[in-house]
Amino acid sequence: MTRPVLVYKGDEIAAYGFGDPHPFGTDRHHVFHEELAAAELENIEYRHPRRASVDDLMLFHTPEYINRVSKLSSEGRGWLDEGDTPVVPGIFEAASDVVGTTLAAVDAIMHEEAQRAFIPIAGLHHAARDRAAGFCVFNDCGVAAGYLRKQYGLRRIAYVDIDAHHGDGVFYGFEDDPDLIFADVHEDGRYLYPGTGAESETGTGRARGTKLNIPVAPGADDEQFRSAWRRVEAYLDRAQPEFILFQCGADSLEGDPITHLCYSEQAHADAAATLCRLADKHCAGRVIGTGGGGYNRRNLARAWTRVVQAFSEAV
Ligand SMILES: [Zn+2]
Repeated sequence: MTRPVLVYKGDEIAAYGFGDPHPFGTDRHHVFHEELAAAELENIEYRHPRRASVDDLMLFHTPEYINRVSKLSSEGRGWLDEGDTPVVPGIFEAASDVVGTTLAAVDAIMHEEAQRAFIPIAGLHHAARDRAAGFCVFNDCGVAAGYLRKQYGLRRIAYVDIDAHHGDGVFYGFEDDPDLIFADVHEDGRYLYPGTGAESETGTGRARGTKLNIPVAPGADDEQFRSAWRRVEAYLDRAQPEFILFQCGADSLEGDPITHLCYSEQAHADAAATLCRLADKHCAGRVIGTGGGGYNRRNLARAWTRVVQAFSEAV
């Protein structure tokens, strides 16, 4: 049986953004969906966003932090962090819609309606359990890992991140958890926000030695990515995940206005295809792709479309 690739689309997740001239504008959803439609891929099924409940958010975030976002969102002004993530009216609802949509994709895959799903406005990997950071209010991947455990009894969730920035919100949120399989290829933190993700950061306590951070130098191209990616592939194969969450930020492509990596969209296509193969081998094909960062509109449209194409070809 051929199952579709689910792609999430709707004003609710499109609304997550911070307005002009912030790099995380609300136009990113539309730019991607135009490119995807033009690609005329077969086997795509569009699905609507869903809103997460406060109980869902608490699978990763503290109640104090959730309340703070809710209050600031209704006031409609100020900052959620030290100057990257402004409050815009309704940001609580938009951020809850992003999380809920990732959870909707989890449910659809766990109910075997599909094996792969993609959510363009998601993968908000900088949000910590108790604070916003780097354009990220709620950490949908962090919540999804908690949800897979509570709702479906899975333990070994893999989080794989090829955004130019280190996925610090996920990493530190699960730093001492040996069952949260973590692999992240990112621009060296000495040159880029958030400054973390050194190779020596492999987890703490019982999780020491279980996580994989691979910093690459500014200017790294597809060849350097491929050499890092081979290590990710071997690591995931050994780790035997039960579900794969893929953060495929497009800000690692050449020409992004706020980072310094030089991949082409082929990196994203190859990574997506590999993850499908590994998921087929270890976890009934279960992969969710989340868009993450990417501030050059042409790059994000192309990179994410190639991810969806790889998902559709691997079905
Ligand atoms: Zn990024």
